[in-house]
Amino acid sequence: MNKQTQGIGMTSQRTRDRLIERLRAKGIQNQHVLEAMRLLPRHLFVDEALASRAYEDDALPIGHKQTISQPYIVARMTEALLAEGVPKKVLEIGTGSGYQAALLAQLVQQVYTLERIKPLYLQTKKRLAGLNLRNVRCKLSDGTWGWEGYAPYDAIIVTCAAAEIPTSLIEQLNLGGRLIIPVGAADAAQQLLTLKRTQQGVTKQKLEDVLFVPLVRD
Ligand code: SAH
Repeated sequence: MNKQTQGIGMTSQRTRDRLIERLRAKGIQNQHVLEAMRLLPRHLFVDEALASRAYEDDALPIGHKQTISQPYIVARMTEALLAEGVPKKVLEIGTGSGYQAALLAQLVQQVYTLERIKPLYLQTKKRLAGLNLRNVRCKLSDGTWGWEGYAPYDAIIVTCAAAEIPTSLIEQLNLGGRLIIPVGAADAAQQLLTLKRTQQGVTKQKLEDVLFVPLVRD
């Protein structure tokens, strides 16, 4: 690990460990998720000017009116994703800073991720390559339609709020596959849901109320 990855002061391992303790106190139990988050340098996913705040449990701006999600929410969604065994192939809608994708890359075999804002896509692609994450594939496109080329997926995670559940995403799930998605209007309370594709149809489970930037259709 080089000096930048290791971090100093407000980005040191001690500061990171404190965040993990906070997540545990808030109810996150999955040891694999907690350990992967303990080791992943979140300060490398935000602007240098915000690095000192990277291990607070808050969403932070990443430009283009977008945010890197709050660590607790990232942990909660990742825990939900792993709740019924480890999925092999995961699709993420809303690459943003790449933090969620990089976390998933530590936990599952292959990650596909879609982003619609070109500068974010380009910056994050470079960032993930710099971190030597070879099991993440990025694409610039509207995630409403999923990523047909690599479907079906064992799990799909959406990190922006959809007014309605995009049917393409359900169609691109394996039987038994799960979709983790915040649903609701842009500036109102949204519900984080887990949907599961079964032989009989789709089952739905509510996780909690959340606040995400909107899923924008192009
Ligand atoms: N997972 C990200 C969170 C970024 S915020 C992270 O860890 O940093 C949500 C992202 O979803 C934004 O970058 C936004 O541009 C993107 N987004 C919104 N609508 C989208 C769409 N239809 N397709 C792909 N990405 C979308």
